[in-house]
This record gives sequence, structure tokens and C-alpha cells, in this order.
Amino acid sequence: MIRADLHHHTCYSPDATTLPKTIIEKLNTHPTIKAIAITDHNTLEGYKKAAELAKPYPDILIIPGAEINTQEGEIILLGITELPPQPWKAQHIIEYAKANNGLAIAPHPYRGLGLGNLAAKLDLDAIETLNGITSPNLNKKAEQLAKAINLPGVAGSDAHFPTDPWNVYTEIQAPLDIDEILKAIKKGLAKASYTEKSIRF
Ligand SMILES: [Zn+2]
Repeated sequence: MIRADLHHHTCYSPDATTLPKTIIEKLNTHPTIKAIAITDHNTLEGYKKAAELAKPYPDILIIPGAEINTQEGEIILLGITELPPQPWKAQHIIEYAKANNGLAIAPHPYRGLGLGNLAAKLDLDAIETLNGITSPNLNKKAEQLAKAINLPGVAGSDAHFPTDPWNVYTEIQAPLDIDEILKAIKKGLAKASYTEKSIRF
């Protein structure tokens, strides 16, 4: 079993400042979280930089990802190494993820640019039921949605700044390996969780 943060931004997102280097250092010394999906807004550059910097560290894993602003709302793609072709329509980028051995996840469906109830109609692989910067009631709503449509629930900090806490994570029954992690999430062998230190939950 591993603990992974499946939603994390770097300074390659216009609204975030954390340097990839800082994430690698923190991940390497973190007692429990050993994998992070870098999910910058509409770019894979943050992932590429972090993956490069993580090479000397065998005990940590950077999962490729991007949080894509589709016409219908935000969708996180994991496991892709190229961005989908534009225009970014929700169903098209979900199909792109599937065709490229990736996953499509609805981040914070009821906050900001989330997909809302439309998430139930799309062919997603998981719902983010615990987002580190979303209120408990909106996370709860996301959890109810995941249950209603029988999709796995995952967690991500949605951290944008170096001071953001790493207090939510996904427990995944998989080794520290990208393909195994993605397969396990798809099978529902994943659980959203949080630390006791968390102030939001
Ligand atoms: Zn985000």
C-alpha cells in the first residue's frame, strides 16, 4: 500500500508558486507520502521538470498529470505524457486518456470550475472526493456523487504554495509504479484519506 497525493500544482501553473525542486525534497523526506501526481493547469511542463529532478531518488514517484480546463469544467488526466489535442471537450479528453492508458478524474466537482452533476454522465475513472482546499460540505457532496455512480473516490491536496499542508492523500493498494497505481485506482483499490493534523476535515 502506498500513499499518494493525486493533485498538486507547481510554479508552471499560473496561480501557483511551488518549485518542483521543493516538492521533490519534501516528498523525499516525508514519512508516509511517497508519490505525487503533478497536475498543473493545462500543461505537463511541471510534471516533466519534477520527474527529471526525481530521477536520483528511488523511493519517490512522480505521476504524470494535468488539470485540463475543458469547455464543461476541469478534468484531471493522469498517466498521459502529451496533452490531448484541442479543442478540449470533456468527452474527447476522457477518450484521449483511455486511448493512452491514462485515467480521467473529476477534481472538486462541486467547487469553482468543477464539472458538477455532469460528472455523473461522463465516462470518468474516479471522482476526487477529498480535495485539500475545498470545504467539507462540498467534499461530502463529491463523496455522495462517487457512491451514487459507483466510481472510486480519490484525494489530492490541490496544493499551490510551498506552505500548503500535505494533509490529504489517497491510499492505493499498489507498489510505487505508475502503471500499477493507475490500474489499482481503476479497479477501486484506492481510498481517500487525511491526517489527524488536518484542520479542514
Ligand atoms: Zn488544482
